[in-house]
Amino acid sequence: MSGVSAGRGKTQTTKDSASVFLPTGLKVYTALVTLLLGILLFCPLQEIYTEKVNLTMANKAERERTFIMVKPDGVQRGLLGEIVKRFEKKGFKLVAMKFMWADETLLQKHYGDLSSKPFFNGLVKYMRSGPVCPMVWEGLNVVKTGRQMLGETDPANSLPGTIRGDYCIEIGRNICHGSDAVDSAKKEIDLWFTGDELVQWKANEEPWLYE
Ligand code: UDP
Ligand code: MG
Repeated sequence: MSGVSAGRGKTQTTKDSASVFLPTGLKVYTALVTLLLGILLFCPLQEIYTEKVNLTMANKAERERTFIMVKPDGVQRGLLGEIVKRFEKKGFKLVAMKFMWADETLLQKHYGDLSSKPFFNGLVKYMRSGPVCPMVWEGLNVVKTGRQMLGETDPANSLPGTIRGDYCIEIGRNICHGSDAVDSAKKEIDLWFTGDELVQWKANEEPWLYE
């Protein structure tokens, strides 16, 4: 007898605790909320999973950014469009661009590593002699490829087919700048552009450029 009553007591206790914590209306409500949360969580996860294939392509396209600038001689000689065209036709994506006079402080920071060089003052003066066109370009290996497209620092050593090889003659008038490494590209982009000026957009040609 005592066993039965103990069993009954047990059942009663379990039921009681459930009822205390969750009245019937609340139980249904909790179940619905849990179901809804489950659906809400599961859908984005599934989306991420199915998008995984496309992420590979997007990663390639967005892997790197470089800072390219058309110098005052490039602008004055009407080569701005030609230089932009080469990066555009190659398949790189334009992220930012402006047309401006660069002040001395900005140029001294930009060429800070060269401040001890005998040509430094002349370089800053040359860079202040007219407006410049700073740009940010994006794509797979864009830093290295960008430098190859520009050619050697001295146009005399630049191969035909490169920008400097095709359009200029002397080292002190070499019409364009390009970052020499991923790290320096990041620094230069931060120096010349604010975060707001870097434009987020998807190029439609991406699937035709990256496999
Ligand atoms: N420069 C110069 N004389 C020199 C070396 C460089 O006038 O003997 C100028 C040139 O305009 C060059 C810039 O300084 O583009 C920066 O030099 P750097 O060595 O960084 O070459 P870059 O990275 O532009 O190819
Ligand atoms: Mg350099």
